[in-house]
Amino acid sequence: MSSRTPPKLESFAGWIQATDDHAPHHLNLLAHVGQAWDDAGDGSSVVRSSLARKVERWRYQHLKEHAGRLTPQDEAFVDALDGAARQLAGRAPLKSRRTRHAVRDPAVDTDSIREACAALDTAFPLDRLTETARQLTQQHFPGIPAPRIQRAARHRILLYAPLYVSSDCVNYCLYCGFRYPLGIVRRHLSVAESLDQARILRGRGFRRILVVGGEFPSLTTPAYYREITRSLAADGFEPNIESAPQTTETYAELVAAGARGVNLYQETYDERLYAKYHVRGPKSAYHWRLETHDRAAEAGMPRLGLGILLGLADPRADLLAMMRHAAYLADRFPDRTLAFSLPRIHEAPAGFEIPYFVSDRDLIRFFCVLRIAFPRAGLVLSTREQAEFRHTLAKICITEMSAGSSTAPGGYAADGSPNAAEGAQFPVSDHRSPAEVAAWLEEAGFEVAWTTNPA
Ligand code: SF4
Repeated sequence: MSSRTPPKLESFAGWIQATDDHAPHHLNLLAHVGQAWDDAGDGSSVVRSSLARKVERWRYQHLKEHAGRLTPQDEAFVDALDGAARQLAGRAPLKSRRTRHAVRDPAVDTDSIREACAALDTAFPLDRLTETARQLTQQHFPGIPAPRIQRAARHRILLYAPLYVSSDCVNYCLYCGFRYPLGIVRRHLSVAESLDQARILRGRGFRRILVVGGEFPSLTTPAYYREITRSLAADGFEPNIESAPQTTETYAELVAAGARGVNLYQETYDERLYAKYHVRGPKSAYHWRLETHDRAAEAGMPRLGLGILLGLADPRADLLAMMRHAAYLADRFPDRTLAFSLPRIHEAPAGFEIPYFVSDRDLIRFFCVLRIAFPRAGLVLSTREQAEFRHTLAKICITEMSAGSSTAPGGYAADGSPNAAEGAQFPVSDHRSPAEVAAWLEEAGFEVAWTTNPA
């Protein structure tokens, strides 16, 4: 091995030799890293960025293989790989990723999080909580009502649409209708078909498009998402991406292609339950998923969407972990926009019993708690919830809503006929059209926005 291997990595050579089943291969990689370190000449940047990818891949494999049993030595090793990959890729120096610790570290709690946690207790009056959340939302998302509306302004709500591009998925998430063994009708849209779907959505008013796809490595490739993103951005949309976790390099490509944000829900921060629900497939790599927002932010992604799937685990514990996760990200990347989603499982595939019930009152409380902890964050509500309940939440603190959604690839019809239900990931509960949702919001005094940055 070269004597110029990055100092921290070099100290692991003996440990790799003794413990790694692929030691010859990895020690060889370390030697190449050392050579790249030595080579400051022209033409080395391609080599260094290729090595950065390999080092990140190695880190991913190590995290996956040691999921649930990371020793302090493993922790130090993956941090060293992280630092080496970042330096090889020429990215700005940053504090080490410490997401794994942050999500359970009380030292991460801000005053706002401590205040919010007090309100998690059901003894804290809900009406007092909703009023505080409403005032904070009005303060940080002030709205201008439509001219014809003669009533006090509420806040501004952005409407967006999900665009499902592929239901092919190799994962086994027990709660999901797209999971690999299920014999559903599957569809994978081409880039051109995805753009056609987006143009239908534009006819309904949308500019913010959330591109959603399952994880199927030979189909939903980085190049696939990059080209969809590029074509949407070139056509005037604001693409956000909800895909499987990607590498830092892929996120950099997506940012360059015009991506405005990434959504990635940890589902549950309970590592033991996470392993129980994600029994096979790449999604079983808890830590790789957990660090997705770090990689996206390091690549320059402006908006970071976090979420938990309510029903899988103790919701209060998950909410606290997510708030710590977000506080850690806000400290590491203070110029990024944070957003939160709290989807509830209403229906799961046959055989999956929802273990943790979350009531409407619970959900209201949880959104309010997030508003207190993060007054400027986007709070996102999908059409999983029924129209009347969406009204209730919108009046309190929601700032982003989907409308007229289909959760099936190719589900939007150009002739205006109802969205396709066949091949959907989950059933939609609010069946109103985008125009009906927008009209309701305007009548209620909200400012309805279709883009993040109106001209
Ligand atoms: S939740 Fe996502 S990753 Fe899991 S099976 Fe469904 S589509 Fe695939």
